Amino acid sequence: MARLYEYQGKQLLKAAKVPVPQGEVAATPQEAKKIAEKIGKPVVIKSQVWAGGRGKAGGIKFAEHPLDAEITANQLLGMEIKNLKVEKVLVEEKLDIEKEYYVGVIIDASKEARAPVVMFSTEGGMDIESVDSEKIARVTVDVLRGFRLYDALNLCVALKVPTRVLPSIAQAIMGLYQTFKGYNCRTAEINPLVLTKAGKILAADCRISIDDSSVFRHPELGIDVAREAPTPPTEFDRIAWWIEEGDLRGTCYIAQMAPDKKGPGYVGYHGIGGGGAILGVDALNRQGLKIANYADTSGNPTAAKVYRAAKVILSQPDIEGYMLGGFIVANQEQWHHAHGVVKALREELPKRPGFPSVILLCGNKEKESMEILKEGTTDLLGQNPIEIYGSEKVYETEFLAKRMRALIDEYRKKREIKG
Ligand code: GDP
Ligand code: MN
Repeated sequence: MARLYEYQGKQLLKAAKVPVPQGEVAATPQEAKKIAEKIGKPVVIKSQVWAGGRGKAGGIKFAEHPLDAEITANQLLGMEIKNLKVEKVLVEEKLDIEKEYYVGVIIDASKEARAPVVMFSTEGGMDIESVDSEKIARVTVDVLRGFRLYDALNLCVALKVPTRVLPSIAQAIMGLYQTFKGYNCRTAEINPLVLTKAGKILAADCRISIDDSSVFRHPELGIDVAREAPTPPTEFDRIAWWIEEGDLRGTCYIAQMAPDKKGPGYVGYHGIGGGGAILGVDALNRQGLKIANYADTSGNPTAAKVYRAAKVILSQPDIEGYMLGGFIVANQEQWHHAHGVVKALREELPKRPGFPSVILLCGNKEKESMEILKEGTTDLLGQNPIEIYGSEKVYETEFLAKRMRALIDEYRKKREIKG
């Protein structure tokens, strides 16, 4: 699920005729001040990070005057809210809140439903998970019939919303649903949908995430990595994503795990198959090693794709070893992996004398794969230790992690003597 920031989500809502507070996004305190001047009333300054509960975490503050706005924005920018760095703040008119509502659309993927579910609650402002289920009205959308205005009205009526605000709340629910549908969302949420003391309905917050597979349909959103991730992509993540973006045969998923690596013990990790890959990570951790990146090439990727993945993994300057963790007897033809890995090792290892590799590759065409790996790396062995294993070792995660550890220890010793 590719996430949008609150300010991006609000632009979509506005286009769908859901009223949003007047405001703009700022990357510097000076910009924040200018926006506050333009608004000309007290403002709320909101950290733009991919997390809910920013209010409680100190990421949402109020300012009476433009100068306050500048000072407050200066405090928030660069701060960490829920471990996420604040790079932008949204400066908006402060609302005079009479009541907070909740509206959300999610996909119910269960066999009985397989459809969007629209939810509405009179208890907005807090986590919907902690709201009493009697205070949440919901409707599963009949996708052939669609979601109509009277469905939205029914949700409000079920919770006895006062008649005077019924039409504007129903309109906001409709707008959220249309946004959800139009942008192929996985989730879309307005929390809170605010009723102001002056009787207006506005979306005061919103969280939207787009289905990864639909991101390509919406280039205007500027999402550069269509992947579920808790944090914005690093440069490494972006480069890794280009591999996948340009070639959808098989999977290549690579994520940087420790962007600010400090100290030794990091392995460039190349897993095959999600669960199997994790077994390898666990085994490495037990030997006191960490993974610099997580990677998964599976689902019959081409040799070109595997090669690119291995190149990206081996591009990390501060790793002490490379592990191909194929802890899975895969039915894909493994010679594609063998070819790709050999090519990458042949290009990269000469740059790193002594740098060790442990390779486990099992599955279909294993015999041929072993030959490719061995023939393709024998002339490198004088400089670089490379250990190659097949299905005889697929259960022996501990043994393989210990081999990685032993080779890394030798590599360190050699470097100490040299250095
Ligand atoms: P979240 O904590 O990340 O969900 O951020 P929200 O944007 O939902 O803000 C959290 C809470 O701050 C809201 O539920 C409101 O109670 C309060 N808040 C946000 N914007 C305003 C505003 O303009 N006026 C007032 N009075 N309260 C606000
Ligand atoms: Mn909220």
